Amino acid sequence: MLWLEDVHVHRGGTHALRGIDLEVRRGEIVALIGANGAGKTTTLAAISGLLRCQQGRIGFAPEQARIDISKVRAEKIVAAGISHCPEGRQIFGNLSVAENLMIGAYLRSDRDGIEKDLRAVHDLFPILLTRASVPGNRLSGGEQMMLAIGRALMSRPKLLLLDEPSLGLAPQLVEQIFDILARIRDEGTTVLLVEQNAAMALDLADRAYVLETGLIKLAGTGKALAQDADVQRAYLGVG
Ligand code: ATP
Repeated sequence: MLWLEDVHVHRGGTHALRGIDLEVRRGEIVALIGANGAGKTTTLAAISGLLRCQQGRIGFAPEQARIDISKVRAEKIVAAGISHCPEGRQIFGNLSVAENLMIGAYLRSDRDGIEKDLRAVHDLFPILLTRASVPGNRLSGGEQMMLAIGRALMSRPKLLLLDEPSLGLAPQLVEQIFDILARIRDEGTTVLLVEQNAAMALDLADRAYVLETGLIKLAGTGKALAQDADVQRAYLGVG
């Protein structure tokens, strides 16, 4: 569904991505792990059009036809079926939960479809219905994460990009969110997940990539990478 081929991104004076190749297949959860500054956030931003790549191609095939989205504007990329749930959640603090969710559907005009997806989001995250009229800045960190994921789902994406959903959350909450990510995948949305919590990401992911200083160092199934000695030493705190 998504292919990155030799993608390079420069940010300020930094060559942040130095030739990334990766693939996300329909129906998978793919995890991208790596240390701080490895380029994980930059990879997601290049896919969603928030950053431009200076070299390489990004192919996206939500259905049959494959399009090159590396030169397409961010808004059109959302319309094509990619939704980005950014690092730090970035919800609108002075707008209500319900208003934040509707912002996720701002490119859509199919009212029945929007209502159906809103019900599906409330089904995944019942707290967002209970707290519908509460301003975003009054939510707990976990609730804000749920709102950010719910908002991203309101564009009915084929591919959901998720940046650090576990950041700052208590372990129990992280487990709850990861269970919901599995459900989102099982209900038909493909997921590309960036995570610092490598153990949980590899446990959840069908496949994963290890990013180091702007390059893919390793790729494999989540299971295989979790058993790889180098990954265990560098990212899982083993040995
Ligand atoms: P983190 O987990 O800390 O977010 P990351 O793997 O997501 O790490 P990126 O944020 O993608 O890494 O950073 C990749 C490189 O780009 C780093 O060298 C970083 O210093 C640089 N970089 C990140 N943001 C900017 C920016 N706004 N301007 C210039 N360089 C940046």
